[in-house]
Amino acid sequence: MAELKLSETRDLTRIERIGAHSHIRGLGLDSTLEPRSVSEGMVGQASARKAAGVIVQMVKAGKIAGRAVLLAGHPGTGKTAIAMGMAKSLGLETPFAMLAGSELFSLEMSKTEALTQAFRKAIGVRIKEETEVIEGEVVEIQIDRPASAGVASKTGKLTLKTTEMETVYDLGAKMIEALGKDKVQSGDVIAIDKASGKITKLGRSFSRSRDYDAMGPQTKFVQCPDGELQKRKEVVHCVTLHEIDVINSRTQGFLALFTGDTGEIRTEVREQIDTKVAEWREEGKAEIVPGVLFIDEVHMLDIECFSFLNRALENEMAPILVVATNRGITTIRGTNYKSPHGIPIDFLDRLLIISTQPYTEEEIQKILDIRCQEEDVEMSEDARVLLTKIGVDTSLRYAIHLITSAALACQKRKGKVVEMEDISRVYELFWDVKRSTQYLMEYQSQYMFNEVPTAEADED
Ligand code: ATP
Repeated sequence: MAELKLSETRDLTRIERIGAHSHIRGLGLDSTLEPRSVSEGMVGQASARKAAGVIVQMVKAGKIAGRAVLLAGHPGTGKTAIAMGMAKSLGLETPFAMLAGSELFSLEMSKTEALTQAFRKAIGVRIKEETEVIEGEVVEIQIDRPASAGVASKTGKLTLKTTEMETVYDLGAKMIEALGKDKVQSGDVIAIDKASGKITKLGRSFSRSRDYDAMGPQTKFVQCPDGELQKRKEVVHCVTLHEIDVINSRTQGFLALFTGDTGEIRTEVREQIDTKVAEWREEGKAEIVPGVLFIDEVHMLDIECFSFLNRALENEMAPILVVATNRGITTIRGTNYKSPHGIPIDFLDRLLIISTQPYTEEEIQKILDIRCQEEDVEMSEDARVLLTKIGVDTSLRYAIHLITSAALACQKRKGKVVEMEDISRVYELFWDVKRSTQYLMEYQSQYMFNEVPTAEADED
């Protein structure tokens, strides 16, 4: 086959989408939970980040469930960014589910079903698996408690723990047959080759039964390449309750996990799964890992959803619920009542509130710098200052949006570094909310269904 030439490889372009929060890699806290000024993509918002860090610690400790946190603050003050930072600091093993309040009303399922699914996506089940084939084809087995093994060896039967259940019953006999009755002692560790069925004595893992008792009958050993016996690590799988639901829901099957098209899951299926998981927990085979459910735009939920949340949080397996809103005092959806953030008072009372503050000019500049790096955009000092000024006068989000478009303008004029002219160009092309509103006010009469009150109407 012809070798791939350099010129050809150059034609390959890296295509990568950069999300709004792709620069966030954590909460940027040190080991004492103090926020570093700029770290892991995070800038400023010190007390909110610290508070979020405390919540993360609580989740990691895994001891608490059913707490709820509200991130409240002006638009663009980093509420979603902080939630993403929490997700990153929790690591992959802790489930983190995210949805926007408005999504509940657009799915092809009832609101409460969508919320139930979201809750169960945020509850992990750590299942300990002891059946694993190790080191090629060798399957390790271990003689059970010395007392029973000792007694049993006299009668030619041994109680064995094995990784393959079907071989449990006859391995004892096979072992004695292969090695001779007098060669088998309590506490021996043997291996069986899966392909040939050959049994080998790996050695004695412990000399006295007291040692064995201290290790417990579940202790297992693997043979390492150098022949050493080593304590075997447990294999642990982490799945969410939602994944178990989908796999066991006959109408959907596990493929629905990939398409996301899970539909409604029957209550009986969930009840059976809860019972099974409870059994596993009692047998020490599984643990519940309460994760985090993040609901953005929580003011979009209606009164029924809030009452569902109130109840769901009482469940002993409930995850930590983090909600965010940028609303002030507003109507609770589905009622005529107003309430802070559009959240009913009884639910609000459950929440630990973390408030986010508007950014200073310096913080805006640092966030914009981080975004430029993230988007691989080089910008001159003047252009950075201008963009920061635009960010202060309009909004951080608008300024962030201008980075990519300014880079395109720069590319078009075959420049390498984004200059002030590129920023000005895109500033003229794309309007921010303030200019757009001003335009609307001036030309309101030319729009349909215009409802902006006129001066005369105000006087009436
Ligand atoms: P809204 O109320 O409108 O939903 P929000 O408070 O959730 O806004 P974000 O979406 O988190 O705001 O922030 C807007 C943009 O600014 C995002 O790209 C976000 O990653 C970035 N950003 C916000 N705060 C910070 C921060 N402290 N450090 C780094 N980036 C930030």
